[in-house]
Amino acid sequence: MTLEVFLKQRIAAEGTLSVAQFMQEALSHPEYGYYQRQDPFGTQGDFITAPEISQVFGELLGIWCAVAWEGMGAPSAVALVELGPGRGTLMNDLLRGTKHIPHFHDALEVHLVETSPHLTTLQQQSLQKFHPMRFYWHQDITSLPQKPLFLVANELLDALPIHQYVKTNEGWREQGVGLHAETGAFLFEKMLPPKGVVLPKDMLEGAVVERCPAAVELVAAVSRHIASYGGAALFIDYGYEENGFKGTLQAVKSHRYHPVLEEVGNADLTAHVDFSALKQAAAKEKVAVYGTVPQSHLLEALGIEMRTKMLLQQMPREDWPLFLKGIERLVHPQAMGELFKVMAITAKEMPVPVGFEKE
Ligand code: SAH
Repeated sequence: MTLEVFLKQRIAAEGTLSVAQFMQEALSHPEYGYYQRQDPFGTQGDFITAPEISQVFGELLGIWCAVAWEGMGAPSAVALVELGPGRGTLMNDLLRGTKHIPHFHDALEVHLVETSPHLTTLQQQSLQKFHPMRFYWHQDITSLPQKPLFLVANELLDALPIHQYVKTNEGWREQGVGLHAETGAFLFEKMLPPKGVVLPKDMLEGAVVERCPAAVELVAAVSRHIASYGGAALFIDYGYEENGFKGTLQAVKSHRYHPVLEEVGNADLTAHVDFSALKQAAAKEKVAVYGTVPQSHLLEALGIEMRTKMLLQQMPREDWPLFLKGIERLVHPQAMGELFKVMAITAKEMPVPVGFEKE
C-alpha cells in the first residue's frame, strides 16, 4: 500500500482529518511516512539542510556544546542529544570537530531521538566509526537519561504536525483534509475547531493561525529536563516570532515548492516554526531562554570565518568554489542566514551561551 492509499482509506473510514493528523501520518507513519523513504536529503533528494550543505555547520555546533559544557564546569557524565538527526551528518561533524577538546568525549554518552526506523539505521551505520563511544536511540525524549544534557535540533520542529485555524465569515474553522466526492482526490475542508482552543478575537476573514502543540510540549519537556539536571539546548529552524496570520504549511519536492495535497508521501511537508510560542513555553519552566538570533549570527559568533580559512588551507584549490558556496548558503541573508533562526535554552545558573545576549 502507498501512503496515499492508506490516507484515503483512513479518511473514507473516519471522515475528514485535521491538517495535524494528516501531516503526522504523511511524514512519520512508521511504514508509509515520508521519512521512511529511501533518502529525502541532499542534492539528489527533495531538500537540503545545513549539515548536508557544509561540514562546518556541525563542527561549529559542536564547539557551542563544548563551550556550554565547560561553562557548566565540565561535568564528567553528560548526555549529548540530537533530535531528528536525519542522515546523522550533523552528529558526525560535531563529534569529529570536538575530538581534540580535552575530556569532552570522555564525558559523553550520545543519545539520538528519531522516529523513522529507516533513518535510525542510516544513523547507526554512519556513527559506527566512533566506537567505543556509547550511542543510544530513542523514539521520544521521555527515555533520556537523568543527566545534564547538551542538545541540538536542526529542522526538527518544522516537521512536527501543526493545526491550522482559518477565520471564515462564519467564525473560526479548523482546516482539515477530506476527499472530493466524485474524483476521490484530497481536498481541504473546514471543520469546527475542538472546544478549548482559544483563538484571537477581531481577526479579518482569511486570517490563519497555526499551532503546533507537539513542538510546544517538546520544548517544555526539554526545558524541564534542563531545569532538573542542567545543560543547554539549541533549536534551529526557519520560522518567525511575529505571526503574520498566514498559513505556512508547504510541500517541497526535488528542491521546489509543490502543491501540498498532490503526490502525498513523495514530497516533504513542513510549516514555519512559531518561536514566540516556544519561547513562552520554555519561559514557564525554570530555565534561561535566549534568542531567537539569525543562524548567520550564531555561526559568525562561533568563528565560521576562521574555520573556513583554516579548511581552505587544507584543501586543493579546485575544491574552493564549491566549499565557499556552501558557507555562503549558510550565512548569506538571502539564503539560510536570516530565514533560519536559533533559540537557546540553558540552566539558569549557566553563563550566557555563545552567540546570544542576556535578555
Ligand atoms: N536534522 C537533520 C534532519 C532534518 S529532517 C538535518 O538537519 O539534516 C527531520 C528529522 O526529524 C528526520 O530525521 C525525521 O525522521 C525526524 N523526526 C520527525 N519527527 C520526529 C519526532 N517526533 N521525533 C524525533 N524525530 C523526528
